[in-house]
Amino acid sequence: MKSCNICGSPVELLVDLDSPNISSISTVINSNTAIYHCQSCSHTQKDSPVCLESYYDSEYKLWCESESSDSLYEITDKGKCVYRLDRILDILLEKLVFNSSSSILDYGCAKGLLSRKIFDKTGAHPYLYDLTDSYLDYWRLWADKNHFFVKKIPQSFANYFDCIICNFVFEHV
Ligand SMILES: [Zn+2]
Repeated sequence: MKSCNICGSPVELLVDLDSPNISSISTVINSNTAIYHCQSCSHTQKDSPVCLESYYDSEYKLWCESESSDSLYEITDKGKCVYRLDRILDILLEKLVFNSSSSILDYGCAKGLLSRKIFDKTGAHPYLYDLTDSYLDYWRLWADKNHFFVKKIPQSFANYFDCIICNFVFEHV
């Protein structure tokens, strides 16, 4: 029996899709895709048809067209474009207070654009983590290199952070 990647409870098969399928980043997946749901924590997951480590190292490139590429969240009544990360930043800053001494981990940060926005707005220096080194050039544009983690976070950082951001991460688990 399969178990949940988040809480370890048994999962139920929701759907088994015949090949080919299309991923969330619009790439063709030439295999069946089975999707499971956890009744305990509501996580939804799938079997991976690829080796995840090499996939995230070499194939998965999200919003890499430019440093600031993002997706459109909404167009307001006054015609203003609101982008996804700006909306998420607004929500974070409504709920949390950050300053230059805040210890923040952006887990699965990709280009680190949300953290850069936090830095620009509050002076906080988030730590950046991702499974791949594909985004290091973006991180080097603004962040402290002592705040970079790729693949592994040292045990010495256990219980270190005031806040851990997991933005668009759980759909990869
Ligand atoms: Zn679960």
